[in-house]
Order: sequence, then structure tokens, then C-alpha cells
Amino acid sequence: VKHKGRDSFTFYTQRFTDAARKKAEMESELHKAIAHNEMQLWYQPQFNLSTEEIIGMEALIRWIHPSKGMIAPDLFIPLAEESGLIVKIGEWVINQSCAQIRHWLNNNISVPRIGINISGAELRQGELVNTLAKALNLHAIPGKYLEVEITENFMMEDMEKAVKIINELKSMGIEVAIDDFGTGYSSLSYLKALPIRRLKIDKSFVADIPNSTHDVAITKAIIAMAHSLGLEVIAEGVETREQQNFLHDNACNFGQGYLFCRPSTAENIECWLSKEE
Ligand code: C2E
Ligand code: CA
Ligand code: CA
Ligand code: CA
Repeated sequence: VKHKGRDSFTFYTQRFTDAARKKAEMESELHKAIAHNEMQLWYQPQFNLSTEEIIGMEALIRWIHPSKGMIAPDLFIPLAEESGLIVKIGEWVINQSCAQIRHWLNNNISVPRIGINISGAELRQGELVNTLAKALNLHAIPGKYLEVEITENFMMEDMEKAVKIINELKSMGIEVAIDDFGTGYSSLSYLKALPIRRLKIDKSFVADIPNSTHDVAITKAIIAMAHSLGLEVIAEGVETREQQNFLHDNACNFGQGYLFCRPSTAENIECWLSKEE
């Protein structure tokens, strides 16, 4: 260890500055991405596991970088959260989904509820309810077309604020789902205190069912607890028939995953939506 000291330090700082430079570069590109129309909203249908009807769609952001191609949200959303850019991006996501809903309604396409991912930073900033109200109003859309997906960590961070926001959303007709349920540091007590519609079981639990006894136990427990509190449950990341059957047999209400449909552009997803006469 003693002898390697200096070299590994140089190596470390080199790697560190590379990473820092890349990060700074991505951040400055992210600043321009919206103005340059590089963001897209993709959609992934959600299904009732008993009737197989489509019951909603999750909106998932994609950054189509002019030279690097598609950048996954896991790579830039954390950076956007750190830099505060997430508020601008979140506004874009809200407006884009409302514009898309309006477009579908104008073309007599029946639209299920669209779930939008909301970061803690957007909730903390305090304008979320306002931004949603303005977008619904601008595009003349009732709140029943929207659901917001928020993570349990935010709920725990500032329970009073969370309660206020969720009640306001509810009064606008917007449903609330708890995203990535089971992965955070939650106390379960908030679940019964809030007008939440459903829990989303994170794909990390779904991935190894029915083989992992641990994940089977967690998944069953989440479903049982949700139902006893009057909440619906949706599983994300459903990739196999075995997972689908297990979830259905254990009374999970809804499912979303590559088995049914991958996230795709608004145009590609349209074939899942029915046309009204
Ligand atoms: P998430 O909210 O947990 O979203 C589910 C992720 O699982 C999505 O990844 C989705 O494409 C992916 N997925 C869906 N079905 C399957 C499957 O069967 N197998 C596997 N392995 N994955 C599946 P994606 O689109 O890359 O998004 C990653 C995360 O980025 C999301 O995780 C969410 O936290 C965040 N995100 C995405 N869009 C937005 C957005 O508009 N705003 C904010 N704040 N965050 C977003
Ligand atoms: Ca989500
Ligand atoms: Ca997840
Ligand atoms: Ca998430």
C-alpha cells in the first residue's frame, strides 16, 4: 500500500477530473437540451392483470443527444436533480404530456390515465401543483387523465408538505402513486394517512420472482398490505410469463413491463389506444 500510494493517487485524481469534466459537460448540454428540442416523452402501457385491459401509461423521458444518441434518464435525471434543472425538465414533462393527451383527445383516441414521474426536488420547490393546474388549464384537460408517481423518500422527508400537496392533487382529480415502493426508507404509517391510489412494486423485487423466496415474500407482503389499506398495486418490470402468473395469482392488480410492451414514442404507442366513433 505504502509504495503504490503516489501512483494510485495520481490515477485517482486523473479519473476524478475526467469524471468531473464529463459531468460539467453534460450539465451544460442538459441546459440547452429542452430549448433545442432534444427531449422526448415515451410511453409504456400498464395493464389490468385479470382483464388484460390497458389501464394507464407511464410517461418516461428520453434525451436524444445530437451526437451521443439516446441517453437514458438514469444518467441525466440525477444530474438534473443536483443542479436544479429538474424543475425546468419537470415542467416540460408536464406540459408535453398534457399536449399529447390533448392531441389524442382531438383525434378521438381514448386516453387512459398518464403517470408522470415527479422528483423530490420538484416537490420541494413548491410550484408543482401550480404547474400542473396551469398545464391542465392550458390544454383544457380534466385532472382525471393524470397520475403523479412520487417516491416514498419524499413523503418521509417532509410529511406535512407531502400531505398538503397530495390533498391538493386529489382535489384536482389527479391520482398519486408511490413509486419504487419498498426501496426507500419509509415508515408505513403514512400510507393510511394519505389519499394515495396505489403502490408501484419496484422492478428489483419483480426481477427474481418466483425463484427468490426473499423477493416472493416481499412482493406478497406489499400486495397484502396495500389491499388491506384499500390501495391498488401495480408491478413494474414484468418480463416473463412466470412473473405475470405469479403476480396475477397473488392478486396484484396491474402490471407493466417488457413482456407486455416496451416504452415507445407517442406514435408507436397509439396502436394500444382505441379509437372512438
Ligand atoms: P422508474 O420510475 O422506476 O421507471 C421504470 C423504469 O423501468 C423505466 O426505465 C422503464 O423503461 C423500465 N422498464 C419498464 N419495463 C421494464 C422491464 O420489463 N424490465 C426492465 N428491466 N425495465 C423496465 P427508464 O425509462 O430508463 O427510467 C429510469 C428512471 O428515470 C425512472 O425509473 C424514473 O425514476 C426516472 N425518470 C424517467 N422519466 C422521468 C421523468 O420524466 N421525470 C423524472 N423526474 N424522472 C424520470
Ligand atoms: Ca415511475
Ligand atoms: Ca422503479
Ligand atoms: Ca423512480
